[in-house]
Amino acid sequence: MSHGTRPLAAGNWKMNGLRASLKEVAAICEAAAAGGAGQAEIVICPPATLLTEAAKICEGTPVKAGGQDCHAEPMGAFTGDISAEMLKDAGASYVILGHSERRLGHQESDASVRSKVKASFRAGLTPIVCVGETLSQREDGKALQIVASQLTGSIPEEPPPGEIVIAYEPVWAIGSGMTPSLDEIAAMHSFIRRRLKELFAASSAAWRILYGGSVKPGNARELLSVDEVDGALVGGACLSASTFMAIAGIYRG
Ligand code: PEP
Repeated sequence: MSHGTRPLAAGNWKMNGLRASLKEVAAICEAAAAGGAGQAEIVICPPATLLTEAAKICEGTPVKAGGQDCHAEPMGAFTGDISAEMLKDAGASYVILGHSERRLGHQESDASVRSKVKASFRAGLTPIVCVGETLSQREDGKALQIVASQLTGSIPEEPPPGEIVIAYEPVWAIGSGMTPSLDEIAAMHSFIRRRLKELFAASSAAWRILYGGSVKPGNARELLSVDEVDGALVGGACLSASTFMAIAGIYRG
């Protein structure tokens, strides 16, 4: 459970959702406005095609909208890409960066993620930087080492001007129904907290560290009660307002 920081429940819609799905955004906003997530902050990251509309629906509610990736440059000849400034202009407050589906499916390196983190700050967005090991890396006993090097490589060396949210997402837990044990999550989150302190001293004390990977209404309470877990990054279970709010609802108290 988080210590003093405001917990964050972020939903990553990935490449899912047509305009009809905006009713789920409206339902999440309504539930959050009625106190359905307590003091937790809620972020919805729909596909870029729905971002402007989703952000409009979120206006005046406790829910914020976010992008799922951005280009490092503010503008230019980059067909098909979207800049951090464009996400901001569309109403985003957050952007997910370095998701494993981009690291592995689009060959994104730590250096590329780092340049996108800088872009997110340039545009006034809060980055949610994903890190996490594959199953074979965990089985080889390299999980901590992999996450340490992703953190060092993906976060700019100079102290960033604002919060970087870290999402620990073991690749093998994403969409698989499998999760690490609570002890494994606790060990990784306290390791990440220590690394952030070493890299950025006091400025990182309030940065939130989310857990992501097969978080569902049935396991959210135990996963989110682990020490140093400041919230969740949710994939599959965020596509329906009722399951997403059942997860965020554990912060209702
Ligand atoms: C994700 O892809 O960020 C994720 C956590 O997915 P899921 O919840 O479906 O495992």
